[in-house]
Amino acid sequence: MLKLLKTRALVLRSRPLGERDRLLGLFTWEKGKLSAVAPGARKIKSKLAAGVDYFTCASLLLYKGKSLYTVTQLEIESTFRKISIDIKDYTYGMYFCELLEKLVEEGEPQPAIFNLLLDCWRCLDNGGVDREILARYYELKLLSLLGYHPHFKDCLYCGASRGPFFWSNNSGGVFCERCRPSNTAVFLISSGTQAIADRLINLSPAAKILNLRATEAQKKELQGFTRQFLLQWTGTGPFKGLSFLEKLNTQEKDKKRYNASE
Ligand SMILES: [Zn+2]
Repeated sequence: MLKLLKTRALVLRSRPLGERDRLLGLFTWEKGKLSAVAPGARKIKSKLAAGVDYFTCASLLLYKGKSLYTVTQLEIESTFRKISIDIKDYTYGMYFCELLEKLVEEGEPQPAIFNLLLDCWRCLDNGGVDREILARYYELKLLSLLGYHPHFKDCLYCGASRGPFFWSNNSGGVFCERCRPSNTAVFLISSGTQAIADRLINLSPAAKILNLRATEAQKKELQGFTRQFLLQWTGTGPFKGLSFLEKLNTQEKDKKRYNASE
């Protein structure tokens, strides 16, 4: 069996391992998610040190040991350093990594998901994007690529394109008034939010979000649906990054309200 693997990789996690090394959580082009030791990467003079930070895309040569891979060579392709400067950008970036780590199985190559995360990091690093919308874009796209296919376009049962529509977590899509199931919970979704969700699933690359406008109420509604869907279908959660972001967003809105009332 070939012990060496040359692959592109995104750094999802980077933790100190002993005094010299780092343990990396990687999402690789060739093998999907895997863990690797970067020997000596905690030393400032190490050749690996610069390439093992979060939000880095690198070309790696990995040696496969008994239980772990070891990084033997590393060449940085791109680093998105601006994400780490702002606490909100950083938290969103980390949430993207957390979600991928929780939802994707080890060892399955998923090039489309690789490109999605890279694209969303780039978009966050470029700045100017509505981060809440970017997070919903990432969640919906990721769920689609993993086979959950959230459906907002038209009625799942009869294909009617006119609302009002009702969202069902169990079916992962919307139904018209006539077809809405009676034996399971459904939630009325506003036509604006339904249209935004459908556009997010179909647009690419992430930078096109800059042309999309959403009200605070629509963003809140969409977050509610995506959150429920993530919890229901993936059985995974709570997401640390998401809870922290909610706290940050609430503090920011309270501050704005306070400033406006002065
Ligand atoms: Zn219908």
